[in-house]
Amino acid sequence: MESIKLRIMLSYKEAFSLIKEQFQNLKLETENVKLENSLHRTLAENVISDINLPPFDNSAVDGYAVQFDNSINKWEMIGEITAGNFKEFNLTENQTVKIMTGAKIPFNCNAVIPIEDVKVQDKKVRLSPGSKYLETMNIRLKASDIGEGEITVEKGTFLKPRHLSSIASCGKSEIKVYKKLKFGIVATGDELIPVNEKPEGDKIRVSNVYSLLGEVSEVNQEWINFGFVKDDRDKIKEKVNNILNSDIDILLTTGGVSVGEYDYLKDIFEELGVKKIFWRANIKPGKPCYFGIFTKNDKLKLVFGLPGNPVSSQVNFKVYIKENINNLFGNQNTEQIKAELLNDLRKKDKKRHFMKGVLKKEKDKYFITSKFSQSSGNMVELSKANCLIVIEEEHLDPKKGEIVNCIPM
Ligand code: AMP
Ligand code: MG
Repeated sequence: MESIKLRIMLSYKEAFSLIKEQFQNLKLETENVKLENSLHRTLAENVISDINLPPFDNSAVDGYAVQFDNSINKWEMIGEITAGNFKEFNLTENQTVKIMTGAKIPFNCNAVIPIEDVKVQDKKVRLSPGSKYLETMNIRLKASDIGEGEITVEKGTFLKPRHLSSIASCGKSEIKVYKKLKFGIVATGDELIPVNEKPEGDKIRVSNVYSLLGEVSEVNQEWINFGFVKDDRDKIKEKVNNILNSDIDILLTTGGVSVGEYDYLKDIFEELGVKKIFWRANIKPGKPCYFGIFTKNDKLKLVFGLPGNPVSSQVNFKVYIKENINNLFGNQNTEQIKAELLNDLRKKDKKRHFMKGVLKKEKDKYFITSKFSQSSGNMVELSKANCLIVIEEEHLDPKKGEIVNCIPM
């Protein structure tokens, strides 16, 4: 049987599962953050309520609190209770108090009739013809949401706006969350110049880094932009060594991992003690991606040597890293969408292709067009696309009318 190690090129699935395995080996640290700064962070503790929720029986509507009695349909109003201003009343069955939403219910009432269902004249309250009222109607019972000491939001929850009021109700103004992973990003290439300079001759602006910073931010992690270095073996080695030994969790380099004479990164990683997991997988774009691990003081760091082409490096992030980060932090991944191809695509090889496409929804159906060159250097095309079309290994020359999977972006 053919073993993965003997083969030169991994399949996408094999490469992905090797990366996934290492993501699962990362040990996330924790920190405390203020509740107002906790959106899109992941809870590292169970949030337990220190009180009953609601803390007291209260009215779900603006209305009239009464003792339920089927035979009675008119009452004398003897007072009013607003939210936060409780006064106790001892009502008889013929009396009522006007009560506002959220206000505490007097001890002997067991129904609240909405104001829309009564007629009121000179403190005389009468059930409107055709209206009915029932026992316990419109009363939100004490502890009916959750009891004191119970878990309100579970450890591992990726926090959305909807979680924050539950946590606030539990009295937590500060919560324990997992620390963000810190990505160190560095580009390599003699051709690179800063974005704010105008390239002359054979220079280009260092553009790919910006999409990568964006990708990292989009998965709610932290980044440090370490700029760029020339294709000088010693300089790259020194820079990569410094970054690896800083407090980063994940290193992303771009450029210099292909088969060219000046593609030093793979050797440099090895010399610096990075353990290679793989180099190259059978995908397009982004084939020459390097993946390794580095351990410092028992801390595992992941090392990705991404190709320099802006489309390749970004596709590598999307198809190798993004899903793993979301899984690690309990965030939902965007589902792939099935769409009908509106034009033929050209695919002659048995790599897995991730092609730029434009996805549109009409009525209940998705359609996809792709008139792009699919050049891995063309980031303008990438910015005009809104999805990657996944064409699997064995699928050659997809034809108009076929259904394909798309990764929205
Ligand atoms: P490399 O992976 O170093 O062989 O580079 C592949 C292609 O990507 C070449 O055309 C490079 O000029 C280009 N490239 C490399 N680094 C960057 C970068 N940081 N931003 C934009 N393009 C780059
Ligand atoms: Mg290069």
